[in-house]
Amino acid sequence: MAKIKDVLSENRPTLSFEVFPPKSADLYESVEKAAGEIAALNPSFMSVTCGAGGGNRQYTVEIAADLRNRFNVSSLAHLTCVAATKESVDTAIADMKTHGIENVLALRGDLPAGMEALPENVAFHHANELVEYIRANSDLCIGGACYPEGHPEAGSKDEDIKNLKRKVDTGCDFLTTQMFFDNSILYNYLYRIREAGIEVPVCAGIMPITNAKSAKRSVELSGCVFPARFRALMDRFGSDPGAMMQAGIAYATDQIIDLIANGVYHIHVYSMNKPEVARGIAANLSQIIK
Ligand code: FAD
Repeated sequence: MAKIKDVLSENRPTLSFEVFPPKSADLYESVEKAAGEIAALNPSFMSVTCGAGGGNRQYTVEIAADLRNRFNVSSLAHLTCVAATKESVDTAIADMKTHGIENVLALRGDLPAGMEALPENVAFHHANELVEYIRANSDLCIGGACYPEGHPEAGSKDEDIKNLKRKVDTGCDFLTTQMFFDNSILYNYLYRIREAGIEVPVCAGIMPITNAKSAKRSVELSGCVFPARFRALMDRFGSDPGAMMQAGIAYATDQIIDLIANGVYHIHVYSMNKPEVARGIAANLSQIIK
């Protein structure tokens, strides 16, 4: 299995998928089945999210381990630090090592509702501190998150990019972007971060919107903007599940093809435990990402 920085160092398109872990043991099997079906598409790697509070972290590691050890796909385990201590991060690193996981996405996680900043006395205030700690205490390949439309808490995009530069300089090997629905936003962002001296590979995060509920949730979570072309598609097909599924996969495919045509080679699809969505996208790209 490979470190993701090596996968991304090759000058060719890559396609990766994301799944989320089960909330409880009785759901483990169904998540594992969905992850296995997506893994059968032979993606460049797969990532597994974790809850901001870290409560389901064990399942994150177990699904990531299944992907690597049973389904033969390089896996990336997410790790949040908003509620972490140095001891809990030590345990997380040790668990990953035991399961053979080589890649971690180091995240802060969202602040608890109503909180504007973390108290002084917590172990980690921002993801750069987690990146620094993991770098000093493991040989994991480390990814970080970035936000083409700016992180919702940042005062400005410039400030957000300065913070990102600090995080990358601390030890990120690669970045994955928040979802976006207008590629011109990503092209502008890439220009700005490269100008700021951020040189690590960037995976473009693509969210296929396949139902009206996921559209609402995506906007709430990320604050991203839907372009008029996407809103028209939602208006027309949003109430017809089959049509919306087809239209959402087509829109995501169109975004990905435009990105690759313009030299953005690394595509990370928020496939959300939906093998049918991952399959639809992979089939549409079968001759483009081989
Ligand atoms: P940070 O890099 O710490 O940035 C957060 C904010 O603080 C930004 O506004 C930034 O500009 C600012 N900032 C950063 N460093 C500093 C500093 N040193 N001083 C002052 N300000 C600073 N959430 C989950 O709970 N689980 C997941 O699995 C998960 N996966 C994600 C995957 C991707 C690809 C992305 C893009 C997001 C994901 N998230 C996940 C959401 C993420 O946890 C939230 O967006 C969170 O609010 C910020 O996390 P971060 O790691 O980007 O934080």
